[in-house]
Amino acid sequence: MDLEDNYEDIIRKAERGLNKKIDSSDIDEVARELNLNVRALKKIKDGKYKPKAFDYGKNYDGLKVVNIRNEFYGRHVNAYVVFDEDKNCAIVDTAQSPERIIKEIKERKLNPRFILLTHGDGDHVYGKEKIVKEFGIGIYSGDDLKNNQELKLDDRKIKAVKTPGHSKDSVTYSIGMFLFVGDLIFAGSLEVVIILIVNYWNQLIKS
Ligand SMILES: [Zn+2]
Repeated sequence: MDLEDNYEDIIRKAERGLNKKIDSSDIDEVARELNLNVRALKKIKDGKYKPKAFDYGKNYDGLKVVNIRNEFYGRHVNAYVVFDEDKNCAIVDTAQSPERIIKEIKERKLNPRFILLTHGDGDHVYGKEKIVKEFGIGIYSGDDLKNNQELKLDDRKIKAVKTPGHSKDSVTYSIGMFLFVGDLIFAGSLEVVIILIVNYWNQLIKS
């Protein structure tokens, strides 16, 4: 799996979050100053961190996931189609690929119920109108959801938790065993700051 983040990206965000600038090129010092896991940071820097590939063929407690991935300024952006055993599906973001999403849904004969937007950045929302027009479905986003609001995909609960950070309107959707976080966290950064994220999440679901 290609990562969406890299060493420089992680350092820049950690600096911004802590509001300090680290000039050292010594990785141990950088990690210490920015409260990052030095072993994980070294792996990222050396290109040795490779998260285990996700098995999109598998059924996860009655849910399957399709990934639609697109290039965006040399990086990747992802959209997902999540569906249950009765083929009810939710679309998470657009990855600027409305046509591909529509095609997937038609080929698999799924019943789209709604679009869930993780945040309003162009690479995640562009083309949403096409999908709405094609299927006549609604859109949920941070602008119209309340924190911890519950949605339903057939009889399965989806929880929308407001997770500002990457952007003010960020929402994380909890569906079955999955959390769709948008750009809130990236796989590489997750490894580096895992404890911070767990604390953050615990605070969010309590509030
Ligand atoms: Zn974004």
